[in-house]
Amino acid sequence: MSGLYIHIPFCEHKCIYCDFYSLAPAVPSDQDQSQTTMIARFLACLDHEIDLQGEKFKSDDAYQTVFFGGGTPSLLTPAAVGKILKKLSAKFSIHPDAEITLETNPGTVDVQKLKNFRDAGINRLSVGIQSFHDGDLRFLTRIHSSETARSCIRDAFEAGFEDVSIDLIFSLPRQTPERWRFNLEQAVALRPTHLSCYSLIVEPGTPLFSMVRNKLITPLEPEADAGLYLSTIEFLSEHGYRQYEVSNFAKPGFESRHNKNYWNHTPYLGFGPSAHSYKDRKRWWNISDLGLYSEMLERGQLPLAGSEDLTGRQLQEETIFLGLRSGGIDLEKYREQFGYDLLETYKKSADSCIRDGLAFLQGNCFSLTARGYALCDEICLLFR
Ligand code: SF4
Repeated sequence: MSGLYIHIPFCEHKCIYCDFYSLAPAVPSDQDQSQTTMIARFLACLDHEIDLQGEKFKSDDAYQTVFFGGGTPSLLTPAAVGKILKKLSAKFSIHPDAEITLETNPGTVDVQKLKNFRDAGINRLSVGIQSFHDGDLRFLTRIHSSETARSCIRDAFEAGFEDVSIDLIFSLPRQTPERWRFNLEQAVALRPTHLSCYSLIVEPGTPLFSMVRNKLITPLEPEADAGLYLSTIEFLSEHGYRQYEVSNFAKPGFESRHNKNYWNHTPYLGFGPSAHSYKDRKRWWNISDLGLYSEMLERGQLPLAGSEDLTGRQLQEETIFLGLRSGGIDLEKYREQFGYDLLETYKKSADSCIRDGLAFLQGNCFSLTARGYALCDEICLLFR
C-alpha cells in the first residue's frame, strides 16, 4: 500500500494560519513572467528528482496512492499534472487502481479545468473549503467565497469525480456551536464522500500567531474546542460518515488510502521542497527552500535536508500514537513486532481508559471512543 507524495510549493496568497511550505503569490499580476519562470524551473527540477529517486527505488512494489499536496497543486495546469503523473509512471510501478488525489483550492478551478484534471489521471479531490461563512473566510484570508466553495464541489461532481473530500476548520475565535453546525450542514448537503475537520492551530511564525500574541484575537477556550469537536463526531456519524481518524470522516469505502498509509507506517516517497519520505524504519526529508531545492537538483544532487533512523523505542511510540489516532492498535501485530503485550504492560492505563469510556477493546484491537479521540494526545502519554 505504499504511496507517492508530490509537494507543489505555490499559493496564490498565504493564509494567516498556514505553516506549510509554500510561496505566494505564485501567479497573477505584473510579475507574471517571473512567476511562470519560477514554476517552470520547479517542474524541471521535480522531473529530475523523480529520475534520481526512480533509480534508487525502481524495484519497489507497485505504489497504491499518489497525492499532490502543498501549497496549492490546483494552481498547476492539468497538462503539468498529467506530465508529472506520466513521469512517475515511467519511473515507478503505479497500481492501475491507485488512488490519485489533488488538493484543490476553490477559486483556482472551474468545471472545465476539473474535467481536464480528471482526464490527466486525478481520481480524487481534496477541497480546502474551511468555512461556509464569508466572514470566516475573510478572517482566514482565504482566496475564495462561500459561494465559490459550493460551486467547486458541484463542479467536481459534474466533472465526473466520484470521490470528493471537504476540509473544514473549527474553533475559530468566538465561534459558536450554531455557527459551526451551519458549516457541517452546508458541507453534508453537498454530499462529499469524505470530510476532514481540523481545530484551528495557532502555529508559531504565522500572522495568526502574532495576532494572538498581540492580543488582537483570543483563541477559543479548550472546553469550547472540545465541545465543537464532539458535536462534529456526533453530527457526521448521524449523517453516515464514519470516523476513522481523529480528524477524518468518510462514507463507507471512501477512507483516504493515502492517509491510512501514513498511519500504518507504510513506506512513502516524497518529492518537492519540504516533502518527507519513509521506508525501512528510516525517515528523510527535503529542504524547505525552493531556491536551494532547485540548485541542488540542477547540480545532480538529491535535495535532502535531514534523515533519521527510527529507534525501536521511537517506532513503538509512533505505532501507539498513530494507532490510537486512527483505527486502533492491533494487539496481536504489536506483540509480534515488539515482543511484549501492550495491554499487560500498561494494564493500569488501559483499564482506566476503558473504565472512563475513553477506549474499548474489540477482538484484538484497542481503540479510542469519540471522547477518547478528543483526549488522544494525553492518552498516548499514558502508554510511554
Ligand atoms: S492555500 Fe493552503 S497551503 Fe496555501 S497558504 Fe492557504 S492553507 Fe496554506
